[in-house]
Amino acid sequence: MAKKFRNFINGKWVDAESGETFENRNPANWSELIGTFPKSGKEDVEHAVEAAVKQRDVWANLPVPERGQILGRAGDIMVERKEELAKLMTKEMGKVLKETKGDVQEGVDTAYYAFGEARRLYGITSPSELPNKTAYTITKPIGTAGIITPWNFPMAIPSWKIFPALLMGNTVVFKPASDTPATATKFVEILTEAGVPKGVVNLVHGPGRVVGEAILEHPDIGVISFTGSSAVGRRIAEVAGKHLKRVSLELGGKNPQIVMHDADTNIAIEGVLWGAFGTTGQRCTATSRLIIHKDIYDEFMDILVKRTKELKVGDGLLKSSDVGPVINESQLKIVLNYVEIGKQEGAKLLIGGNQLTGGKYNNGFFMEPTIFTEVEPGMRIEQEEIFGPVLSVIKVSSFDEAIEVANDVEYGLSSSIYTNNIIYAMKAIDKLEDGITYINAPTIGAECHLPFGGFKNTGNGHREGGKWPYEVFGEIKTVYIDYSGRLQKAQIDIEITK
Ligand code: NAP
Repeated sequence: MAKKFRNFINGKWVDAESGETFENRNPANWSELIGTFPKSGKEDVEHAVEAAVKQRDVWANLPVPERGQILGRAGDIMVERKEELAKLMTKEMGKVLKETKGDVQEGVDTAYYAFGEARRLYGITSPSELPNKTAYTITKPIGTAGIITPWNFPMAIPSWKIFPALLMGNTVVFKPASDTPATATKFVEILTEAGVPKGVVNLVHGPGRVVGEAILEHPDIGVISFTGSSAVGRRIAEVAGKHLKRVSLELGGKNPQIVMHDADTNIAIEGVLWGAFGTTGQRCTATSRLIIHKDIYDEFMDILVKRTKELKVGDGLLKSSDVGPVINESQLKIVLNYVEIGKQEGAKLLIGGNQLTGGKYNNGFFMEPTIFTEVEPGMRIEQEEIFGPVLSVIKVSSFDEAIEVANDVEYGLSSSIYTNNIIYAMKAIDKLEDGITYINAPTIGAECHLPFGGFKNTGNGHREGGKWPYEVFGEIKTVYIDYSGRLQKAQIDIEITK
């Protein structure tokens, strides 16, 4: 019988009040049922928020280093269970084992960062403009954070949000993607085992448009941290705006890799293969556009096609697989539809473009790594996030044209340029409109202690990674202390003039 998973509310594993469930299956082998999960409703979110509100003081009153120690312990447990967690993650969302191990490692690194940050939550002290008066800042928790996450990094992304939210003293209501509820369950189990008290982290499974919306609308949720598509992000900003809630949005990308004529071709080819087809192209930072200088185009494309053909598509649990399945049937249809759109727009389908079927592919959602050439700026396959193993190649004649093409999209997450010319590299850093720019490295590969996020429609100005998300989850209080023994009036008692 399939394993039955539950919500985690106020320290107890419970079913949805309605008793309804949904299934979670392996995208590499759809006949494998990973488990059933509660299809929760608004009432379940209400119970979760109630518990989270009740436990606010218990958690916030713990000294920050003590909270940090609990989070560090969660990191230790993740290290011990890395292999087991990675295998489960590969089964539920498909990416190959070495990548799911990396996903767990990102969780570990983020836990240890939080452990260190616990002794570094500095405020500022400042002289006052008035005599016998001083000022400093402290940071207080916001209260309860609503955390809504996507399926493509099911351990890393919840870690990026939940560790900072908790360290800052907030309680949490967590709604993971419906495609990766099992990894989310393991994550919450680990937090509990590490010592997070009951009611501090509450997990509610179920559809985004029901459970997610209930979190957004709940008056006791003070801050929302969301990662996912720009379409849902817009909706979240709208609801959060209506309630004046703080909201951090990390959204889509259409990331370019530029290759200039002076680049080291071999490294650039390795970069684009990893950037475009790693995680089956299902990363917000995936390389979905290759912008390549005409002088090296023919030679580069010959090798790229040969190398792409060598990639082995298969079950991510097999050591031989380079590229796993697409997450589910509806996403596969979306990607295949983009292949049709590309052909209709007049781009040339150089290789791939098909679902893989037969034999070992029969029960899963596998697709050939796909490359379009003769892609023109403005085509939909050049502008829209496809979120699958599809690369659009655009030939350019100059550095300036490459930058113009790279920037001419609504997104601005990650970009990369391969060049040995320092002037091109420095100008690209200056001109590319993205939150992350790599020089001689692919568009993927962010590290947990550095800011992660994008310009333009990729988000709303916040960053994950490093110290930046800690700002999202805290309220700054400015404290003035007057020891003059009299009433002093700022801007009035002292006028600073030139
Ligand atoms: P998605 O469809 O936007 O879903 C993300 C989360 O939002 C899921 O938990 C989903 O729940 C929930 N949700 C859906 N509708 C909602 C609503 N009306 N109100 C509240 N929550 C709702 O994205 P995805 O397919 O999981 O992930 C892929 C997208 O994430 C891509 O666009 C990718 O670029 C982006 N992404 C961005 C970053 C970044 O840091 N910038 C990182 C990774 C991924 P259900 O699963 O139940 O629908």
